[in-house]
Amino acid sequence: MICAARTGTFVGMLLALAAAGTVALLAFHGRLLTVGGAIAATLVGACAVRAGIPWIALLLFFFVSSSLLSRWRAGERERLVRDLVEKGDRRDAAQVLANGIVFAVAALASLRDASGAWEAVAAGAIAAATADTWSTEVGTVGGGAPRFILDGRQVPPGTSGGVTLAGTAAGIVGAVLAASVTVSLDWEVPFAAVVAGGLAGSAVDSLLGALVQERRWCDRCALYTERRLHRCGSLTTHRGGIRGIDNDLVNLISILAGAGVTWLLH
Ligand SMILES: [Zn+2]
Repeated sequence: MICAARTGTFVGMLLALAAAGTVALLAFHGRLLTVGGAIAATLVGACAVRAGIPWIALLLFFFVSSSLLSRWRAGERERLVRDLVEKGDRRDAAQVLANGIVFAVAALASLRDASGAWEAVAAGAIAAATADTWSTEVGTVGGGAPRFILDGRQVPPGTSGGVTLAGTAAGIVGAVLAASVTVSLDWEVPFAAVVAGGLAGSAVDSLLGALVQERRWCDRCALYTERRLHRCGSLTTHRGGIRGIDNDLVNLISILAGAGVTWLLH
């Protein structure tokens, strides 16, 4: 019996990996993911497939909506932020894991604990990831000069800790839609708890982006950047924030915060 159950689990995991891997392969061919990003997405997706259809639906909601928004005015965004941000528009493994690891752990944990707590964690994590991604993608090209969240001064588009009205509105819409999807899945997580998790995650992301994320300076271009090696070929120097705290780590912490808020309120 035990052996049969183990074989069943093993086969189930292989099927889950195959299903998630197919979607990740399509996303790779669509230039949405790097090779590492596709591998990471396969692992996160397989956890969702193991946990069941509501989990797949929630993950697909985040992945599809964020991918479509990244494509929206992609050329303009690339031109605006290429001096500043470290990564291109293809998601790499660190980006995928920062956005997906809390959800993936919750998906696996839900298989052993039917209390509903892990559904709350997952819904909060997806709401935070959605709100943050939407506000970043829309805020960069949605018009209006970003203002630094701490003191209101104008900063270049793409600056961590910079917020715009359009970006903030997009984050709120993202959190509300994530909550709507959660409620439609018949999960017993209150709508307001998911919205609150999404907004809390987004706020923590902006605050940490402003306070602790590493900022670097290119002497040759006289520009702030996240890059160690600037596009011009010059090495950049540390000018603020904490060394080693990059956008992905800030993202992961803010998603943990969002998941925690929804879990507390569920
Ligand atoms: Zn430079």
